[in-house]
Amino acid sequence: MTQDQAGPTGSWAHPEIPGTLPFPTNPLPLPPKWSAPAADAPLSGIWQRLNPEKVKCTGSSCGNELHCFRLTKQMAKSIGPGTCRECKQPLVAMSRVAQQDLSDVDYTFSALQLEYVRHYFWHVPFSQKAMSQALRAAQAGLEGEITKRIRKRIAKAEPYFDGRQTPTAASKADALDYAMHAVAACCRACAGYWHGIPKGRPLTEDEIAYLGELMRRYLLARLPGLEEDPPRVPSIVTAPSNVHDIKDRLPAPHDVSGRSQPHAS
Ligand SMILES: [Zn+2]
Ligand SMILES: [Zn+2]
Repeated sequence: MTQDQAGPTGSWAHPEIPGTLPFPTNPLPLPPKWSAPAADAPLSGIWQRLNPEKVKCTGSSCGNELHCFRLTKQMAKSIGPGTCRECKQPLVAMSRVAQQDLSDVDYTFSALQLEYVRHYFWHVPFSQKAMSQALRAAQAGLEGEITKRIRKRIAKAEPYFDGRQTPTAASKADALDYAMHAVAACCRACAGYWHGIPKGRPLTEDEIAYLGELMRRYLLARLPGLEEDPPRVPSIVTAPSNVHDIKDRLPAPHDVSGRSQPHAS
């Protein structure tokens, strides 16, 4: 998807395409750290005003600094990668994100959150389904699934129904689905324009490891209080009075969002 071919030291400018690079010196109106509590602060109310049930990959709300960087082939002829398709502002150095450099993850995570659909999955409270799954799996269980999920959804050269394989609806998406959308590992179209991974060939092991690490860090940021290991479930036969333990650990509907609140600041 990406048209941005510049190398790490090469020029990013596309002088023939108006409204693109070079970028303004200080283009990102985001805090220097991407950790969820810090990043939540300035925009926390937005998702109460927008309709999260209708969140789409091509959505945007440029007045709220939520843009869309997915360009059609036609658009790519007139605006460059990293330029919002709606407001036409050049905001993200896609070449920099596509370096897949974990030492530059602050930039990558900040840049991802400039996109409407990405921001939603960085900031919206986890649904009851996603939170229940996360609590049952715990950190170890979630991390153990990350690579398998990437392989299943996007590792093939041509995944079926690309763009629709990762659910967005609160009733269907689990915590790993939130992570996939947040870090643009949800489909090959998103992985293409954000991470510079071309379609039409399988993912490499390095790409799988990189995207998996982004997902792992996202989950750590969004679920800071998650237990490392799953809760032990007593057998019904040997301990019938304890079967409510897990249910008691699940959040009530009104406190689901509390899990992503800052707990120390
Ligand atoms: Zn915009
Ligand atoms: Zn996608």
